[in-house]
Amino acid sequence: MELLFASQNEHKRIEMASLLLPHSITLPSEIGIEFSYEETADSFVGNALGKAEHLYNLTHKPSFADDSGLIVDALQGAPGIYSARYGSDLFDHELSAAEKNLFLLKNLEHIPPEQRTARFVCAIALIFTPYQRYIIQEAVEGFIAQHPSGEGGFGYDPIFLVGTGTKAMAQFTDSEKNNISHRALAAQKIASILQDIEQKEIVYVC
Ligand code: IMP
Repeated sequence: MELLFASQNEHKRIEMASLLLPHSITLPSEIGIEFSYEETADSFVGNALGKAEHLYNLTHKPSFADDSGLIVDALQGAPGIYSARYGSDLFDHELSAAEKNLFLLKNLEHIPPEQRTARFVCAIALIFTPYQRYIIQEAVEGFIAQHPSGEGGFGYDPIFLVGTGTKAMAQFTDSEKNNISHRALAAQKIASILQDIEQKEIVYVC
């Protein structure tokens, strides 16, 4: 089925399309809709739901949205929902991904390895009809490294050690990451909801 994805990001569309195969994932821009949404909620779920609802209200077509970020326990949950703009208030400009990683490592300078627990979180909201609204939130647990490593992925991947902490997310290939990431886990749940919806529709049509 065709799903509208509340994003402006073609890279994310491709990632979601591979996670949600065989469904087709369309960006609002591809159907002539200029989509913008200010994320003002205080949770990943709130932001994902707000974006998906906004797109559904514009199109009346099945729409979904995600919101994700990194939670670091020793930083009281920061950068959390502010992961994309971490440090920008202090430095007065948006930091690059590498700068954000160094800033975060600096903030954890005196925290010993066993207390550097963290998780990537992803919320996905799917609005199928006004009466069929689904929200999933998944996480992948890990630790913050002492130094960045690896060339893959994006964002905080070079400083996030997956699981018990031997390998950074950026040291996984894209397809390996697509099996273990917070977004992959959330997308798998959405895929099974979609399968459920399709099966029910088939039963209904018969
Ligand atoms: P968004 O939900 O895609 O806007 O993600 C917000 C921010 O969270 C990104 O800009 C990244 O800094 C961070 N982030 C989200 N997912 C990942 C990931 O899989 N790897 C590394 N950083 C991530």
